[in-house]
Amino acid sequence: MKKLGITVFFLALVGLAIFGLQCSSREMPYDLIIKGGHVINGAGNPWFKADIAIKGDKIVAIGRLDESLAKKVINAEGLMVTPGFIDVHTHCDRGISRIPTADNYLLQGVTTVVGGNCGGHPFPLAELFKKLEETGISLNFACLIGHNTIRRQVMGYKMEAPTPEEMAEMKRLIDQEMKAGAVGFSTGLAYLPGIYSTTEELVELASAVAPYGGIYASHIRDQGDKITEAIEEAITVGERNGIPVLISHIKLAKDSVWGELERITRPVEAARRRGVEVFLDQYPYTATSSGFTSSFPSWAFEGGRDKFKERLADPTQYQKIKDFIIARRLTSARGRDKLETIYIAYCKKFPQYEGKNLKQILQLKGQKPTIEAAADLIIDIEKNGGAQGVFFQMDEKDVEALMRLPYLMHASDGGIQQRGRGVPHPRNYGTFPRVIARYVREKHILRLEEAIRKMTSLPAQMYRLTGRGLIAVGMYADLTIFDPEKFEDKATFAQPHQYSQGLEYVIVNGTVVVEHNRHTGKKPGRILYGPGKTKEES
Ligand SMILES: [Zn+2]
Repeated sequence: MKKLGITVFFLALVGLAIFGLQCSSREMPYDLIIKGGHVINGAGNPWFKADIAIKGDKIVAIGRLDESLAKKVINAEGLMVTPGFIDVHTHCDRGISRIPTADNYLLQGVTTVVGGNCGGHPFPLAELFKKLEETGISLNFACLIGHNTIRRQVMGYKMEAPTPEEMAEMKRLIDQEMKAGAVGFSTGLAYLPGIYSTTEELVELASAVAPYGGIYASHIRDQGDKITEAIEEAITVGERNGIPVLISHIKLAKDSVWGELERITRPVEAARRRGVEVFLDQYPYTATSSGFTSSFPSWAFEGGRDKFKERLADPTQYQKIKDFIIARRLTSARGRDKLETIYIAYCKKFPQYEGKNLKQILQLKGQKPTIEAAADLIIDIEKNGGAQGVFFQMDEKDVEALMRLPYLMHASDGGIQQRGRGVPHPRNYGTFPRVIARYVREKHILRLEEAIRKMTSLPAQMYRLTGRGLIAVGMYADLTIFDPEKFEDKATFAQPHQYSQGLEYVIVNGTVVVEHNRHTGKKPGRILYGPGKTKEES
């Protein structure tokens, strides 16, 4: 009896000890509490006041929370707390291994980027992913498979349709990239060699991503007079394969079609009524940016760069190329001086051109700023290795009207920037704060909650980024916290290398990466692999 009494006593002691241990671990159940912020959950609902608790990489509680329960507390009184921004249209695949801190994205409040857009991606993807897993990255990264990359790999710069063998090989490579973890297939149909492809080729190639739930993202063939046909082609590719379609950087890019929004909404909304998932992404500026190669006729590059130079040496072919450039780039339906609207962003051979428009460059060279001279200049630049340009070719009213469409998401079309290099498009630094400062706060084009929805839950839903894009218990703790009166882009076309202001915190997978507008250098980002990723490779 006495023995039993002692046993009971000891058991009680052990029990107390365990209870006590649990109590002490219960004292710090949270790693971080964000206290007193205005929470915009990403679904479009008006903000509400709540504290958010984070444990590890997840949101574990939302409500009135006792701050003594967390290791760290962020006072978010008067600040907006939103899901981290998701940028579906980037070219970050090019720079992220060099600059894995992705400063120009984190400092816009972006926590996830999708690379591999417009038909180009680093091949093979498994190598890039492996490298990034080793170095670490500051934000989450997903990647598409670029059609141009695959076609170049198999067919070089051939203009004709693929043979059955070439088609089979391209599909095999796409399958390989999906198994490496890509999230879909992208085209850049204004670029080489994608410009040589037919709709049938695209339908067939996109069929290789359908079994893995990949999407089709397209920089369509024409963003001017033939934009409707170009959108319909993209829809066909998605519809015939039963996959979502994302039309990249949507715009009315020629002044002959300005104001004609129905050229876009008609085909998109008809497709949505038929049950095709069609979405748009847009950067909030009136200027585009791309290589000057897209100003040339596609046949000029058939067979590669050497062939291009041979054609330029033939006066008849030179004139044909020149006429094409004048019609495509230098003529305005509204009497605008196009020479003043085209700027050089980067030019390796002629860095003195950077930041200047064609008119200024011609004047600098002591030439008359005529359309003829400008076409010769564009050809000379391309012959000497090419350049990245900035082209003012949109109307602000169209930018605003498109922005209101419920199936449109905000995106940068930018890449990772080395601060100070060249004069790149300011979208690389300013896209997301610009939407909030200019289009929400100043121009009232969108409610703040609607703009946040287009930056968070809408892209997450389209890409099936499970666990991201919303603030809710159980979701990953990707959060952006900003001052609603001060959050603003500072990057301009003349001085693009400027970070935004009013950004207080950016949290990626539970770790603070931006604190009071400064990057902490932390790398908690993850590769967001598509569902095709095979176990053996993980
Ligand atoms: Zn593009």
